Amino acid sequence: MEATPTLDPDLLDKVTNLAKRRGFIFQSAEIYGGFRSTYDYGPLGVNLLRNVKQAWWRAMVQTRVDIVGLDAAILGPPAIWAASGHLETFTDPLVDCLKCKERWREDKIDGVCPNCGSTQFTAPRAFNLMFKTQAGPVEGEGSTAYLRPETAQGIFTNFANVLSTVRKKPPFGIAQIGKSFRNEITPQNFVFRTREFEQMEMEYFVPPADAEEWYRYWIATRLAWYIDLGIPEAMLRLHEHAKEDLSHYSKGTTDVEFFFPWGFDELEGIANRGDYDLSQHAKHSGVALDYFDQSTGERYTPYVIEPAAGATRAMMAFLLSAYHEDLVEGETRTVLRLDWRLAPYQVAVLPLSKKPELESVSGEVLGILQPHYMCDYDVTQSIGRRYRRQDEVGTPFCVTVDFDTLSDRAVTVRDRDTTSQVRVPLEGLLTHLRKVTGEI
Ligand code: ATP
Repeated sequence: MEATPTLDPDLLDKVTNLAKRRGFIFQSAEIYGGFRSTYDYGPLGVNLLRNVKQAWWRAMVQTRVDIVGLDAAILGPPAIWAASGHLETFTDPLVDCLKCKERWREDKIDGVCPNCGSTQFTAPRAFNLMFKTQAGPVEGEGSTAYLRPETAQGIFTNFANVLSTVRKKPPFGIAQIGKSFRNEITPQNFVFRTREFEQMEMEYFVPPADAEEWYRYWIATRLAWYIDLGIPEAMLRLHEHAKEDLSHYSKGTTDVEFFFPWGFDELEGIANRGDYDLSQHAKHSGVALDYFDQSTGERYTPYVIEPAAGATRAMMAFLLSAYHEDLVEGETRTVLRLDWRLAPYQVAVLPLSKKPELESVSGEVLGILQPHYMCDYDVTQSIGRRYRRQDEVGTPFCVTVDFDTLSDRAVTVRDRDTTSQVRVPLEGLLTHLRKVTGEI
């Protein structure tokens, strides 16, 4: 394994500033003073986040025949959370510092108040992390609803629906991407831990005897996904939880950890959850959630292997690992070396000047590229400044339309990472880009 890289001590500040300055991530409700721990994804951030989710969906659903998708409701009745155990046990130990009165999660502070250094706290109290609300106009137990704290339960409650509507049998999976909500005691570190976030979860149902093998398979597969999308291997590691730290039903949990500016921390958890979830929902709902294997005549409750990732957290890891400052022609340039599949814009179309004839050919170029790639279009400032602006947000290719284009029907394609430029005829532009990205 490679040595862990040394990080710029200001990396988190630099990325946070860039994210705000260039429209990736804004503080939510900023004009009202902000709302703690909620963020809005701006014009560039929404593209990056969508691309992260799209890359996950492609790897987990589109390119496989054993996994199908689902989009379940965010609001759910208490019955779901009673069965899953969340009502009783989805709690964090909450303590108050006796000196400065700050509130902390006891398991995250090592016995010392991170605010004032005091070691005196109130006794820990269990604090349920679910957001409780009310559905409909009548108050009372019957109308209590919860915002889901994870997407997984919607998959378990639809297990029988999916099994009876698609021709799948174990081993098979159900994947889902969507918002989850947790009333975190100490949301922190930008979008690493927020109260509203997006998850990408897949529940893989397997015959119990094969569970260990599939657990190992998913650990390796998920680690490889981050590497394939450009995170250096040295910034990732696997952390297998000790048996005594596992929840009572878990037969094994391994986290994929990323080297965040404060150290290695969880990106994704892969767990062998046994038959806990399906058995609990079967018991509480009275509906059989098992599988009858016609080839062996055996009926069993499948075991579940769950890779559970955070989309917003992954986006932050991609941003942090892509951020670079390097020297070009004696000047420092900031460049996001994002994989082209993740970059907010794949191509920027830049007419050399605002002359109508150049803008008109640029329209033609956009017509060629926009059906295939997300494109930016920028006509202001010097071309050098415009290249820097695109480097800073990770645009892999700049296509410059100049006065020669009017006669030779060719454009200059500049590569973000090497800054090298090639002249490409308009009619071969799409094929050229597809070749350099490795699409064809
Ligand atoms: P922690 O112990 O850090 O609170 P967890 O182990 O409970 O997290 P899981 O329930 O395994 O987290 O959630 C799966 C994934 O969802 C996490 O690996 C993370 O990427 C993401 N996630 C969980 N909570 C949050 C949050 N509050 N903000 C952003 N992402 C989150």
